Amino acid sequence: MNTTESAEFVERRACISCQSPSLRELSAGKFDEGAVGAFIAADPWGEDPTPFLRGRPWSYVACRDCELAFHRYILAPEWNERRFSRWMSQEAIEVFEKEYRTPANEFATATDYTAHVLRIERLTRELRGPDRVRLLDFGCGYGGFLAMCALYGFDAYGVDRSSAKRDNNRFSKVFAEIEEVAAMAPFHALTLFEVLEHLDDPHGLVQRLSELLAPGGVLVLETPDCSGVHGIETIEEYRKIHPLEHINGFTPETMARFAERLGFEPVARPTVYVTNDLERVAKTAAKGLLRPLATPTTQQYFRKR
Ligand SMILES: [Zn+2]
Repeated sequence: MNTTESAEFVERRACISCQSPSLRELSAGKFDEGAVGAFIAADPWGEDPTPFLRGRPWSYVACRDCELAFHRYILAPEWNERRFSRWMSQEAIEVFEKEYRTPANEFATATDYTAHVLRIERLTRELRGPDRVRLLDFGCGYGGFLAMCALYGFDAYGVDRSSAKRDNNRFSKVFAEIEEVAAMAPFHALTLFEVLEHLDDPHGLVQRLSELLAPGGVLVLETPDCSGVHGIETIEEYRKIHPLEHINGFTPETMARFAERLGFEPVARPTVYVTNDLERVAKTAAKGLLRPLATPTTQQYFRKR
C-alpha cells in the first residue's frame, strides 16, 4: 500500500440549498485527530481509511441566510467510490447493520412503513382517483418500504446507487439511475428516507426528482435531526454529522426551508394508528389534537405546488 496517497476532497463554497456564499464555521478539525479520529478508527471498515485521511481537515459550516448546516469538504467522486467499494465492504456493512437488526427495531420499522403507506394513500386520493398510488422511493436501500407499498397495491419503484444494495434487494423494481424510472412518471408520491444527509447536492437531486412528480404530488423527507449539533465530541454527534457519511445536517426548520425553496409546501401528516397498544392510540390522538404545539421533527410531508 502506498501510504503517502491522500484522499481528495471537494470544497463546497456556497450554500447547498440557497447558494449563498455567506457561510460561518461551526466547528472544524482533522480527520485523524481528536474525537473524530477516535470514532473513525473504532468504526468497522473493510480497508482502513485512516492512512488516506491523515492530516486532512473537516469543517462543519452553516449558511448565514437559510441556516442549513453541512460539511464544507466532501470526498471527491473517485474517493467516494473507493469508500463505497473498499472502505465499506459488504462484510463491514453487515457488522454495522447487525447491531440495529433486533426484533424490536424490525417491528418498529415495519410499523413506521405501514403508517407512511396509509398517510400517502390518503393524501393522494384526489390526485389519482381510482388509480394505484404510483410511488418512487429514492435511496430505497434493500427495498423494505417498497415491499410494504407493493403489499398495499401501490405501483412502487426504487432507485439506489449502491450496487451492493441493488444486488441484495427484496424488491424487483429497483434501478441504479433516475433516468431508468423517468418513463413511469408522473409519480403521485416521492419518498427519501435517510437520504438527504448523504448527498453532495441535495437541492439538485430533489429538483430533478420533483420533475417526475405530478403537481399536487406528495414528498416525504426524513433525516436525522441535527438540532443543537454544532460539533463532533460525542458518539451521538458523530453519528448525526459523521463527516464522510452524513455530510448535511438538517433541522426541522432548515428542512422546511429547503423544500419550500424547491416549490413544495408543508402538509399536515394525517393521523394514522398502526399499533396493538391501546395506550399509544390515546397518545397519538392527543398529539393530533395538540399538533400546533407539537415539537416539529425532521420527518416531514410536503405537497408540490
Ligand atoms: Zn442557504
